[in-house]
Amino acid sequence: MKIINSKGTPEVWLSIGILTWSRLPAHLKTDLLGALDRIAQIREHVARCAKVQPMPPVEVVGQIWVTDNGIIDGTTTPLRFQKMVVFGARVPVLTAMCTEETVVRKVLVHEFLHCFYYTVKITEAVSRGDRKVGETGTGHNAFDASDDASRLENPADWVGDDDVHSFALHNDAALDMISHRYDELKPHFPALVPDLRFRVEKCSVAESTSDHAKALIRRRGGVERSPVQ
Ligand SMILES: [Zn+2]
Repeated sequence: MKIINSKGTPEVWLSIGILTWSRLPAHLKTDLLGALDRIAQIREHVARCAKVQPMPPVEVVGQIWVTDNGIIDGTTTPLRFQKMVVFGARVPVLTAMCTEETVVRKVLVHEFLHCFYYTVKITEAVSRGDRKVGETGTGHNAFDASDDASRLENPADWVGDDDVHSFALHNDAALDMISHRYDELKPHFPALVPDLRFRVEKCSVAESTSDHAKALIRRRGGVERSPVQ
């Protein structure tokens, strides 16, 4: 596997099979690296107007994700990052290389809100003294809108007003844009059904994000208190 960091930050990177990368035409390599840098900028812009910084990391994978029900535009999952495992967004090339920046931003904010949902779950569990969160993630089922929406944090508690009003739900028609380059990119990337399952309790959470989650839990009348020593 080849790992390439974005120019802006090591918290946005590309993971791509060595063969896939070496066979990729030069113009698509340039295109993909440009997409990586664009995602780093979008993530930075989202963070700038958000209620918490930084945003979760983003891994772009050199794959196309497709199921019998259609294309999957992204998921939330534990990512290996600097010897830790942290919640982040993972997006395939169709999303990353979508030329409409507002669409990419919609998807990223959506995945970040899933990350924050699991952050709150982990924080609640830790404050109860539970070692296990008791929830095994399925990533999310992109094709079950209510199941998916139930695993999103309230956007107003986490991101800026523009993103609150424009983040995507999975039936958002704007997301159709993501499939536009399918025929062009399919010969160059493996198309597969991603495994969206993960275990929640293995993840660590950025301190600033954890503090924000604790404050929200207190405000919501939850059980947050100092962890049992
Ligand atoms: Zn979702």
